[in-house]
Amino acid sequence: MTEITAFPAERTAVLTGAASERGIGRATADLLASQGWNVAVLDIDGDAAARAAQDIAGRHGVQALGLRTDVSDQDSVNESVARVEAELPPIVALVNLAGISSPTEFMQETREAWDRVFAINMTGTFMVTQRVLAGMIERKVGRVVSASSISAQRGGGTYSKVAYSASKAAIIGFTRAVAREMGQHGITVNCIAPGPVDTDIMGGTLSDERKADMAKDILVGRVGTVRDMAALLAFLVGEDAGFITAATYDINGGLQIS
Ligand code: NAD
Repeated sequence: MTEITAFPAERTAVLTGAASERGIGRATADLLASQGWNVAVLDIDGDAAARAAQDIAGRHGVQALGLRTDVSDQDSVNESVARVEAELPPIVALVNLAGISSPTEFMQETREAWDRVFAINMTGTFMVTQRVLAGMIERKVGRVVSASSISAQRGGGTYSKVAYSASKAAIIGFTRAVAREMGQHGITVNCIAPGPVDTDIMGGTLSDERKADMAKDILVGRVGTVRDMAALLAFLVGEDAGFITAATYDINGGLQIS
């Protein structure tokens, strides 16, 4: 039987793709910091990551590190995770949110653009997860949550066509397979499948008209907020979520049945 290892009092959550002020990751980093987590923001936008960390540390009195990281580059991933391990308390949670959309119609898709989407959305998630898991396995405790998408189930939307949908479906298989191996080490591995949330990945701020149009198919009558996503992510990386693994959480206001 696997023993339950308590979370250390001083612990760190690593969040990739969490630099954008309007993004899901930033809202999640904020919420986790308000719950006492130290946070590391790893993002391709290094200046925004540094600003986010400074702001979070100032407002919540926790340690925060913002590091330019390209999740599609193994050296960059290794360097950033090594710095987090050296400078912050033990990593207990990893939230993989770095991602790009692919608004291209299938017959216009190029091999280069396809590879780029997979390199960031899927291979990036693989590389960061593998690097962070090494320490979690040693400490016998950890939570990993990655971003799939409702696009994996429905085949995309305006800003998320074939490459994006396929990469987000891959995240579900990845999550289940890694969860299979990690349970024995006290580590849970899950993913979330959000419906539309008004962030930069949607191609810029959504107009009220566009949001209202999208909301017609959503049972609760609105698009999602970053706070909706942060609340679920914070629950899934929390100490009480130890019996949840290999799961894909739909969070889309009911869009999945419309
Ligand atoms: P966002 O654009 O704010 O977040 C994506 C972040 O990834 C950005 O901060 C960006 O700088 C970063 N990034 C891009 N390439 C990177 C790279 N190579 N290395 C490191 N960081 C990189 O959008 P968001 O909505 O907060 O997206 C977060 C995650 O949620 C994404 O994986 C997205 O696919 C997923 N998601 C979003 C929605 C939605 O409607 N917003 C729906 C389903 C899933």
